[in-house]
Amino acid sequence: MNPTPPQHAPMTQFAVVKNELCIGGIALSRLAQRLGSTPFYAYDRHLLSQRVAELRLAMPPALKIHYAMKANPMPALVQHMATLVDGFDLASAGEMQVALDTTMPAKQISMAGPGKRPEELRQAVAAGITVNAESFQELATLARVSAEIGLSAKVALRINPAFELKASGMKMGGGAKQFGIDEELIPDALKQLQALGLDFQGFHIYSGSQNLKAEAIIEAQQKSLLLCQQLAAHCPSPIHKVNIGGGYGIPYFPGETPLAIGQVGEALAATMDTFKAAQPDTEVVIELGRYLVGEAGIYVAKVLDKKVSRGQIYLMVDGGLHHHLAASGNFGQVIRKNYPVAIGTNMAGEELECVNIVGPLCTPLDSLADKMLLPKAEIGDLVVIFQSGAYGYTASPSKFLSQPDAMEALV
Ligand SMILES: *Cc1c(COP(=O)(O)O)cnc(C)c1O
Repeated sequence: MNPTPPQHAPMTQFAVVKNELCIGGIALSRLAQRLGSTPFYAYDRHLLSQRVAELRLAMPPALKIHYAMKANPMPALVQHMATLVDGFDLASAGEMQVALDTTMPAKQISMAGPGKRPEELRQAVAAGITVNAESFQELATLARVSAEIGLSAKVALRINPAFELKASGMKMGGGAKQFGIDEELIPDALKQLQALGLDFQGFHIYSGSQNLKAEAIIEAQQKSLLLCQQLAAHCPSPIHKVNIGGGYGIPYFPGETPLAIGQVGEALAATMDTFKAAQPDTEVVIELGRYLVGEAGIYVAKVLDKKVSRGQIYLMVDGGLHHHLAASGNFGQVIRKNYPVAIGTNMAGEELECVNIVGPLCTPLDSLADKMLLPKAEIGDLVVIFQSGAYGYTASPSKFLSQPDAMEALV
């Protein structure tokens, strides 16, 4: 007997009414009519609010939750997030402009990332946001722009820790990295920061992304807070904030299960108690992107053509890797795996077909589903890619092959 192949985690966050998937209470075909064209991304406002509320219940009450904007910088979505989270973390001055258009105060915004341009640092200092400095050169530039514009830069040091976040989709700390200043150089960096007269805010440690293993996240959080505590003796002034990163993942592929968030929260409460005993006035922050927004979004494309090639069924749709690189398997995946996919206009169809769903680009890389068993679809049906609220549109090469842009809607 064959063991059952691994399945996608059930996508039950969206209602199904009369055979159609709904988002924000709107049937998919109605939303397509309202937007006027396909393909499009849609993000569910209520699901965003619900996710942050559930996360707050699971996490220690004193923990501050920031949104990492690069996951989804759509302005309307970022404004909605501004009403839910305690701060924003940015990775460019472009993102900063979107953040500052919202109601989020500048003092709750920070900017990280390697290779910040001097003009970007100047903009950040002028805005009064905190810069997470990632090199000695950045400290020097921050001092120069502070003097030029007559404002002392608020600076946190991003640490490249000696440890790594185990079992992560993407590692961003440990070993040799372009991110942050190596842990062993931090005492020197603190001396330089003080000598330059910069306004010390605290530390930032970001060790990885897309992690579904509670134990790995718990261990990294413990190590991060311990490291900050050990560095306190070297600091020129009290530590206002420590940002211990995030890396909370969501299930994308067959066999993956949701992160046990309750377990992470319980362990973090104990770790924070220990930390706060030594550092009672230091705020502890986590920064999350995909965990907050990824499951609230879908990508929708229309079936343009259907054909059979040597026994395999192909659905050609009007969207593809130029809008959704990650779902095509070309955004950091080693082996291509299917995202969870549905026929949004035939959710309950009982007749199933094994199909390949491909985009309009003239490359075999433009695949959205590879041999998936789905309800039978015809020309005009709407294909839905779930788990698309993060690293979707802005993480895709939308200019490739001069196809039309996708729409985006917050509903
Ligand atoms: C990308 C990034 C994040 C967000 O990662 P997610 O996996 O979306 O949670 C947070 N912080 C930093 C510094 C990042 O570079």
